[in-house]
Amino acid sequence: MKKSVQDLLVVNDKLAKELLAGSADEVDRARRFPRQNIQELGRSGLLGLMVPLEYGGAGAGIAEMAQALERMAQGCPSTAMVTLMHYCGTAVIAVKGSVMLKDSVLPAVAHGEHLTTLAFSEAGSGGHFYMPVSEVRRNGHGLRLTARKTFVTSAGEADSYVVSTRRAGASGPTDLDLYLVPKATKGFEVEKPFEGLGLAGNASAPMKLENAGLEDGQRLGSEGSGFQTMMEVVLPHFQVGVAAVSLGIATAAFQAASEHVKARKYEHAGGAALAAIPRVQFLAAEMALELRSARAYLNETVRRIAAGDPETMLDVLGVKARAAEAALAVASRAMTLGGGAAFGRRGGLERMFRDAQAASVMAPTTDVLKEFLGKACLGVPLF
Ligand SMILES: Cc1cc2nc3c(=O)[nH]c(=O)nc-3n(C[C@H](O)[C@H](O)[C@H](O)COP(=O)(O)OP(=O)(O)OC[C@H]3O[C@@H](n4cnc5c(N)ncnc54)[C@H](O)[C@@H]3O)c2cc1C
Repeated sequence: MKKSVQDLLVVNDKLAKELLAGSADEVDRARRFPRQNIQELGRSGLLGLMVPLEYGGAGAGIAEMAQALERMAQGCPSTAMVTLMHYCGTAVIAVKGSVMLKDSVLPAVAHGEHLTTLAFSEAGSGGHFYMPVSEVRRNGHGLRLTARKTFVTSAGEADSYVVSTRRAGASGPTDLDLYLVPKATKGFEVEKPFEGLGLAGNASAPMKLENAGLEDGQRLGSEGSGFQTMMEVVLPHFQVGVAAVSLGIATAAFQAASEHVKARKYEHAGGAALAAIPRVQFLAAEMALELRSARAYLNETVRRIAAGDPETMLDVLGVKARAAEAALAVASRAMTLGGGAAFGRRGGLERMFRDAQAASVMAPTTDVLKEFLGKACLGVPLF
């Protein structure tokens, strides 16, 4: 029998605590794509969390997505990042795919047999992912795309890629199309993976499409609607999802550091624990406050998105910036509290510290988000 969203979240908690948490350090050390974790998420129905009910998925919304991703990230952040990109891709297919495209892809996603991801970033526009420099061409045989994408999560591992490109004969840098490109497409090639500082298992790599043949039916939305889809569909899922992953990493770091300071005892002080030192308590309080305020903001943003609040865009921009900064602050203090054990790579804190760096670099970066937020606050046009 198909599981409800609530049942799936319970299964997710169990998988996160056992399978994902148990694999995180090995995935990191070996820089290994967490295939087994992804397969298990697929088998249990969690890869189909965001697939609409009529296609056999769970039909979950952004709030449940955030809850699932936060727990996954507490266990294995690389697995959570792969799943986040998959959820973003799934959301675009579900909202903008043609009936034929949805019929051919979404049931497989719901059954855990199809992994998708986003391939937006290009070296030519870096963090300004909404301005790709590649341009799809139309000739007598149909559509052709040559594009070099960079930093693609699950590159070579995913079955399909939501690829952004300028529309044929684009009128400006944000005149875009999105296409769903299967891995089997002729001209698709993955280049050498990055050796990222953190999230070492997410198979982040550049990939290229060389004169790849596309059909109009692969386009997600009408011609020229790509930018609007990015802003209205991808951005809310991505921003909330990255915030949730950041919170998950920070929560795990807080827990690991708390356990360490309670367990670390000094013989010279009659067995007193690090936790008895006021400065240690002060750092723990700062970490707890970071976590609580970032979580409250995430919950409020999710609530506003669900309510269709017109002010939501400000929070969609702000929520990732806030959570990314909280993750950096918490992970850095956790390293301080972990002392030599953390520096010596014992107990996973050092991995969490590296994993926590990713969110502020991922586009839109924290600085770019603050530029947008500042513009929005001051009534200056965003673009
Ligand atoms: C772990 C990870 C996973 C990723 N997964 C994916 C994926 O699945 N799909 C995908 O498409 N991409 C993905 N990316 C790519 C990511 O979203 C960014 O595009 C990429 O990290 C940008 O890198 P860059 O060095 O080219 O940025 P640059 O554009 O060169 O920016 C470098 C720095 O300059 C700053 N900067 C740039 N413009 C401004 C400005 N106007 N104001 C202030 N500061 C500015 C930025 O904040 C940044 O700090 C991933 C990245 C990471 C780290």
